[in-house]
Amino acid sequence: MTEALLTVRDLWKEFDGIQAVRGFELDLYPGEVVGLIGPNGAGKSTVVNLLSGFHRPSRGRITFAGHDISQARPDRIAQLGLVRTFQHIRLFSELTVRQNVEVAAAPRLQISTIDVALRTRRYRREVERWRQEVDELLEASGLMAIQDRPAGVLPYGDQRRVEIIRALATQPRALLLDEPAAGMNESEAAALSDFLEWAQGRYGLSLVLIEHHLDVVERLCQRVIVMDQGAIIVSGTPEEVTQHPEVIRAYLGE
Ligand code: ADP
Ligand code: MG
Repeated sequence: MTEALLTVRDLWKEFDGIQAVRGFELDLYPGEVVGLIGPNGAGKSTVVNLLSGFHRPSRGRITFAGHDISQARPDRIAQLGLVRTFQHIRLFSELTVRQNVEVAAAPRLQISTIDVALRTRRYRREVERWRQEVDELLEASGLMAIQDRPAGVLPYGDQRRVEIIRALATQPRALLLDEPAAGMNESEAAALSDFLEWAQGRYGLSLVLIEHHLDVVERLCQRVIVMDQGAIIVSGTPEEVTQHPEVIRAYLGE
């Protein structure tokens, strides 16, 4: 059996007496898409903040690609290939859509200052590869037509897609998406699902997807974890989970 890419054991986070996360566990396998759902305040974003190094765990162990990242900094974790998006979008609003993606992809350019200065063959090859990668992402996400618009003036759904392709441009092994379809209508959410499905297949990515749109979760996820008040209350296939009485009560509010 293949090894899990990301493992989380007995993860806890306390904020001033509030237990935001209580004993979270996860095994995320290569290419797997796991959904994380639950009511507001359940601890979902805190889990993402812990996995991505933005918060330090009170207790527990996080391993990614063979490295213990429990105490690692966000830049180190991203460098290993575990990349996150934010519930509130962060973009360079004055830069164009294309420039936003180019900036995200640039650190992977294999060129030195000498290559740049002398416009070497290597420089030209790398820049061409860079341009093609950015083109492919813009094309697949449907953003090519608006590539020259400043990111800050775009409608919310488009900014979301820019944020996601910026994350993809770093070529992560696993992506943590915190409510990517929040604030979208049904058709925007469906378009986002199409794009995520494409990206997942194209890059063989593992995904952890926090999402309130259950149709997005049901379509993309092989497995769903349900949290409430910091703890996992149920996990299983989307069908199993959405039929569970505790989920219907706690999450669907019936
Ligand atoms: P969710 O994303 O599921 O809505 P959160 O992870 O944002 O939930 O929050 C879980 C709990 O932790 C909430 O009670 C929230 O108020 C608390 N919390 C989250 N972040 C912080 C923080 N930085 N400082 C203090 N409390 C926090
Ligand atoms: Mg949240």
